[in-house]
Amino acid sequence: MKATVDLHLHTTMSDGRLSPTDLVRLCAERGLRQIAITDHDSLEGLPEAQAAAADVGIDVIAGVELGADEKGGEVHLLGYFVNADDPELSSTLADFRDGRTSRGRKIVERLAELDVHVSWERVLEISDGGAVGRPHIAQAMVEKGYVQYPKEAFDQYLGRSGPAYVGRERLTPTEGVAALVRNGAVPVMAHPTYYMGGEGPEDVARLTEMLAGLQQVGLAGMEVHYGDYSPRQVDMLAEIACELGLIQCGGSDYHASGNPDETEPGTVGPPPGVVDALQDVKGRLPRQGGV
Ligand code: AMP
Ligand code: ZN
Ligand code: FE
Ligand code: FE
Repeated sequence: MKATVDLHLHTTMSDGRLSPTDLVRLCAERGLRQIAITDHDSLEGLPEAQAAAADVGIDVIAGVELGADEKGGEVHLLGYFVNADDPELSSTLADFRDGRTSRGRKIVERLAELDVHVSWERVLEISDGGAVGRPHIAQAMVEKGYVQYPKEAFDQYLGRSGPAYVGRERLTPTEGVAALVRNGAVPVMAHPTYYMGGEGPEDVARLTEMLAGLQQVGLAGMEVHYGDYSPRQVDMLAEIACELGLIQCGGSDYHASGNPDETEPGTVGPPPGVVDALQDVKGRLPRQGGV
């Protein structure tokens, strides 16, 4: 089924490999009408994306993706209708980008100890001023022939349990949701299965409990349609979202990563009404950040 809405996309301002303009054009060509740009820790792609979207006649929602740490797992949060003129959020994101840079350098050092030699200068060149992420290091490893695809670098070295993994300072999920709400953004949990150890009843209960807690602070939705989720996973997550009254969001999480099986924009996404539902929440937020 073709989607017309994609609420999870990355550009060169973080670890995506298409510029905001090229990404917006690709999305328009693929039949999308409403998209959100959700770079990691960066709002810098938004003006260019919005200008390109006006040219091709589609809507771009200002978004962002924040990583948060929780015992036993990782939670990614998406914020929609972000206020980009908010000094508090801008300064938080700038701190996260600095943390990404120093952590990236440590990963490169750890790789060298494992006899994988990529230059930090090359990683910076690949990231080209965007928020540094492991995919940039993976790309440098592909260039040097250590792995064939970026995903292989994650599987062998860079993944959370890999030998070159280095964490970084992050918010808790509760702090992340609160920071988004203070900004006036609508918080949504990304790819909830990241946080789940498995998909049995206990895992579902653990996720449900975490979501219910975050709802108290302002979480409005969760991704249900995502990347390569199977129909069974979509059903499982839709059931949790229904039970809690969370908006069922989603998107491709497209990065133009160079991995062979990457989900293309327009392949998966939520029904069009979801954007109105998010906008309703935005309209009801108590206070908006910024000057
Ligand atoms: P970072 O922001 O440095 O923690 O890197 C996270 C990004 O790496 C994600 O947004 C994905 O683009 C990518 N990523 C994470 N895990 C994997 C994986 N197992 N295979 C390929 N890419 C991954
Ligand atoms: Zn990414
Ligand atoms: Fe993510
Ligand atoms: Fe993402």
